[in-house]
Amino acid sequence: MSELGQPYWDGAARGELVIQRCCDCGRWIHFPEPACPSCGSGRLDFAPVSGDGTVETFSVIYRSFVADFAGRTPYVIAWIGLPEQAGLRVFANVTGCEPSEVVIGMPVEVCFEQRDGRAVPNFRKKP
Ligand SMILES: [Zn+2]
Repeated sequence: MSELGQPYWDGAARGELVIQRCCDCGRWIHFPEPACPSCGSGRLDFAPVSGDGTVETFSVIYRSFVADFAGRTPYVIAWIGLPEQAGLRVFANVTGCEPSEVVIGMPVEVCFEQRDGRAVPNFRKKP
């Protein structure tokens, strides 16, 4: 994510999932954009969301070509739909359960993992 995404990482460091939001029309925007895709406004801010989500689609990675993830296989990457707005989704790992437990439609909640010196938002199965 570019420097536009810095507040996203700053939020994660505080233990908050924050998403860019248009100050004029209220639309949530992810990934962050320089202007609102709905109304064109450049007045954009970041605000916390509930941290709840639903697995919309996912892949189980058995062979990673990303060096940092080589020792973590198998792991799950997913698009997580957020309840704050239809079509709003984030790309994240699903952790805390076996990959075979992950199903489309599974309710999840955000959690944070320290990785390479920064907090990364992951999602885990809701209890
Ligand atoms: Zn807008």
